[in-house]
Amino acid sequence: MLNKSKKILEKLSFHIDEGMFLVTSDFQVEILSEAAHRFLKCEKDVKKCHLFDLPQSPIVKKIEEMLLDSKESAGLDINKSHVLINISSLDRSETKLVIIKDDSNQERMLNMGKEFVGNASHELRTPITIIKGFTEMLQEAGDDIDRNAQKGILKKMQASCERMEHLVKHLLRLTDLENCELEARSSVDIHRLIEDISYQVVSIYPDFSIEHLRLEDEAFAYIDSDLIELVLTNLFKNSVKYSRDEKVITIKVDTTGDDIYIQITDKGIGIPEKDLDKIFDRFYTVDKAHCRKLGGAGLGLSIVRIIVEKHGGKIFATSKLGESTTMHLYLPKAVESKMAALI
Ligand code: ADP
Repeated sequence: MLNKSKKILEKLSFHIDEGMFLVTSDFQVEILSEAAHRFLKCEKDVKKCHLFDLPQSPIVKKIEEMLLDSKESAGLDINKSHVLINISSLDRSETKLVIIKDDSNQERMLNMGKEFVGNASHELRTPITIIKGFTEMLQEAGDDIDRNAQKGILKKMQASCERMEHLVKHLLRLTDLENCELEARSSVDIHRLIEDISYQVVSIYPDFSIEHLRLEDEAFAYIDSDLIELVLTNLFKNSVKYSRDEKVITIKVDTTGDDIYIQITDKGIGIPEKDLDKIFDRFYTVDKAHCRKLGGAGLGLSIVRIIVEKHGGKIFATSKLGESTTMHLYLPKAVESKMAALI
């Protein structure tokens, strides 16, 4: 029976991505898969050798330990990788089957999930603590509290509720976007879309002026209009939020190759060089206290990035600290724009 199993394993070893090999009762290593040679750092032509003759590495040491302790599974962190080792008996004999698997991606996903839940809970905890504190204060004060003070407290409680609502809305949107496919794509006039959004932004923030530069008369993108409206609104709102005295936002629209290129520049506080790549990560904020005061939790740009990437586009930021920030957005051109370029 053991010989039959060995024959099957020998065939399997040519096709398997995992590191797989057998260790006999006298610690002979045999039937090594290609990945096993890699994990064990031994020459490709080694068909059989003694376990203790293998180059000493953390994986080999771990396997030796596991065999001596009759342990069946263990994980190991090596540099930035995570490796899983599994040892089982072959056909109830003394021979052991060892499987080594690089589990880094799964481990990374798990850690990302844990980090996400940790960040979300942390962001929610602050408004909950505020509401709880004020509720207790109101209960303790009973009728002794002054009407104006009561109004002030209720206003703060309302702001905390709105903050939680905003956060939950963003979290749900992130999850929805991650799981959805773009369905409602069509050819959309980008100049028109920008005019509509500019109009809305200026009606809410009348001291801002938006300069719309058309470097190309026609700019049609193949997009989901509602989602790109959300992207542009988020970018405009950040420009407003992080602006200083000079309340001007400049939008340039151009075409490059197969893309529509949109540039949004503000004269705001700017972003330090080291943070430019990270601002698109979930929950990343340059200055946590300042962003909180402005009502942000660092989710807006991660939503922007997901939407842009779902369209096959790209986005990045450049900035002069203390002077200006520019967002560079590329979206796929619609066929109309491509045709017009050919005429
Ligand atoms: P938030 O809701 O906190 O604004 P975002 O994800 O939209 O979150 O942005 C992430 C961070 O990037 C912000 O907290 C801010 O530090 C920085 N940021 C984004 N846009 C700008 C901008 N136009 N000017 C300066 N800083 C910006």
